[in-house]
Amino acid sequence: MNDYSCATQCTWCDGCGDYGIWTAMKRALVELGHAPHQVCLCFDVGCHGNGSDKLQGYRFHGLHGRVIPFASGAKLAHHTMPVIAFGGDGASFSEGIGHFVHGIRSNYPITFVLHNNCNYGLTLGQASSLTWQDQPMNSSPNGIPEHTLNSMDLVFALEPTFVARGFSGNIPQLTEIFKTAIQHQKHGFAFVDVLQACPTYNHFATHQYLLERCYDANVEGHDPHCEAQKARALALDTAKRIATGILYQREDVPSFYDRLIPRKDKKTTLVEEVKKVDVVEFMKEFI
Ligand code: SF4
Ligand code: MG
Repeated sequence: MNDYSCATQCTWCDGCGDYGIWTAMKRALVELGHAPHQVCLCFDVGCHGNGSDKLQGYRFHGLHGRVIPFASGAKLAHHTMPVIAFGGDGASFSEGIGHFVHGIRSNYPITFVLHNNCNYGLTLGQASSLTWQDQPMNSSPNGIPEHTLNSMDLVFALEPTFVARGFSGNIPQLTEIFKTAIQHQKHGFAFVDVLQACPTYNHFATHQYLLERCYDANVEGHDPHCEAQKARALALDTAKRIATGILYQREDVPSFYDRLIPRKDKKTTLVEEVKKVDVVEFMKEFI
């Protein structure tokens, strides 16, 4: 765990769910035996993104909503390296929703961790498309006029190969979810929705609210290798209790990388194949 620590102090608010997610990810990487120099960690803009210099490893902190293209590109270039992308609900379901949709649809072989605190925390509590309707927020004191986007329904409509849900207050379970989601990269896109407490701005889905409702569906017998419709129904049924754990998984769909015909039977990674090529002769054609 110490190898993953940085001298930089965390600046998240007291009680922020980012601490739990950050700790669970470190534990998962250590338990999987990955040293910091063996993983690529990619952060979107948001409160969680300020953790990019609080965790050792190859780290990238990019433009708002653009973490999935970067992470996917890094993975395609170095497909043997675990690549984990972190994004918030604001960036992932507004600015970057196109990337999110095609990340799942394309089955890019990365792990994506959604820091789902139902608001834009970094910009002081603005409503995101996952904020509950009618909840007063700093940018919308009368509540948002639109209905809340049903994120899990969207995810299942994209024919995912891995869907999990965790809670920032359950670090042991989250560690196990992350380990499975990182290992799923050999099969494709692993989506982990982490319900995260944001005590500063989210006064509806609070830590206590989530603590009382979240249960481990796998412990109660849910098999993630079930029909997609069954997993979808379980994910959407949040009225009284919220199912967490590995909700859906299939390993029989090739990842984007595995469908690239030019990469078939290649034993090397793209980064190993980089070389200098003299293009002078080629360019003469255009002079
Ligand atoms: Fe965490 Fe919310 Fe504070 Fe951001 S604003 S650091 S998400 S508690
Ligand atoms: Mg957010």
